[in-house]
This record gives sequence, C-alpha cells and structure tokens, in this order.
Amino acid sequence: MGRGFFVVGNWKMNGRIAAARSLAAAIRAGAGQAGATLVVCPPAPLLGTIGVELAGGPVLLGGQDCHARESGAFTGDVAAEMLADIGCRFVIVGHSERRMLHRESDADVRAKAEAARRAGLRAILCIGETLAERDAGQTRAVLAAQLRGSWPDGATPGQIVVAYEPVWAIGTGRNATPAQADEAHGWIRAEIDALSGAGRDFSILYGGSVKPDNAAALFALDQVDGALVGGASLDAGQFLAIAACAAARRSSVR
Ligand code: PEP
Repeated sequence: MGRGFFVVGNWKMNGRIAAARSLAAAIRAGAGQAGATLVVCPPAPLLGTIGVELAGGPVLLGGQDCHARESGAFTGDVAAEMLADIGCRFVIVGHSERRMLHRESDADVRAKAEAARRAGLRAILCIGETLAERDAGQTRAVLAAQLRGSWPDGATPGQIVVAYEPVWAIGTGRNATPAQADEAHGWIRAEIDALSGAGRDFSILYGGSVKPDNAAALFALDQVDGALVGGASLDAGQFLAIAACAAARRSSVR
C-alpha cells in the first residue's frame, strides 16, 4: 500500500457558524479537483455543524486537539472519543501552539496520540524546531527527540501522519525552502524508520506558510506527502488552489 497524500486545513480559533458553513461548502464543492485527501479541522464548537455540511462527501473532518483520557473531570477538554463520535477521522496533536502556549510536553503529545489510536482516529503528529534551534544547528536532534518522545509504541501508518512544521515558518509568511523541507523530511523519515521499521510507509506533511504560490515546489519533493495549512485554509480558493497543486503532481494514494 502506498502512503497517502493529504492537504489538511487547520482553522485554529477562527470562524463563526455562518461563515464556517460557507467555507466548508465551498471546499466540498471544489474537492473533486483535488489530488489529495482533503481534511478540515474546525474549532471544537463548529465540528457538529461542519460535520453536517461535509457528510457523505470527500472532505474529511478532524479535531485540533484531544485529551488523553476518555472522559472525566477535565473542564474545557475534548476526548478523542468525542471527536470520533461527532464524525472526525483525524486529530492534530502536538501543534507548536499547544506545545508552547499550553506547555505540552512530548509525553503529553504521546498520550494524546495514543488516545487518538484508542478512539480510532488518525493522529496528525506535529513536530518542528524553533529558529534558535535551527540557527544553533540542532534541527535534526530536536526533530529526533520530539519524534521519539511523542511516538506511540507500535504505531502504524494508518494511525499516524507526521507533520513537519518549523515553528519559525508558522503564520510568519516565511516558509522553508524546498531544500530545507526535503532535508528535514529525510531526517524525519529515517527516524520514523528507526521507530517503526516502516519509514517509507508513513506520510509526512509539511506545514508553515503554505500558499498556492509555494505549494507546487513543496509537493514536487519526493519526501513531502502533503501539507498542513493554517492561514490559507480559511480561504476556500486558496485552500483548493493548494490542493490542485497536489493534483498536478500526484494521485491521492501512491
Ligand atoms: C499551522 O498552524 O499549522 C500552520 C502551518 O499555519 P500557517 O499555514 O498559517 O503558517
């Protein structure tokens, strides 16, 4: 089985019901042209509404985070099982905004990825170095440590998609060059291979200021299996244009 090619929209804490429905409807309407599996990850209060909007279509639903436990006294948190119950197929774990703003450790991220597996969701496991770490020549070591620390034992390609998101490229308009992305994805794949023995079967997405004008160059790289898109995913035209770059390069499963 080849690894999948995904374009995932992370809407973050954006959207209100009416506008979010229009956005989802427009993405659904244009999804036929995409050369990738499309996933949208709305904020938790919009999951039900967007799930209805996307039901029966090709665009899949994902959560932006989950708690490690199945239920209990965790005010404000969302269980992976709740996401599955409402129709999600994916959940982002370990996004750098969660790691930094909510002080999530690798162990926390691993527990969330394990919760996703327990609930039958595919975790989109995010890793990435800061600018200071890159400048200090620590990128490879940081990525390896994050992967080892947050990798659920025995994870299979059907359970985990990795997203390489250099922190300095998220929401900054500054993205990694294709050469930087290719190099980092190669390191990540080697590390996944050491962890799983099946590195070539796991999808590795690139994330960080992906736009219609830089997606084609990133998607042309053998090591890149799609994108995790923040800002540009809030505009159906831009999101679909990124997805169309995937169509130009690959089919959805290779
Ligand atoms: C993200 O938040 O995962 C992301 C990649 O954001 P942006 O595309 O806006 O840089």
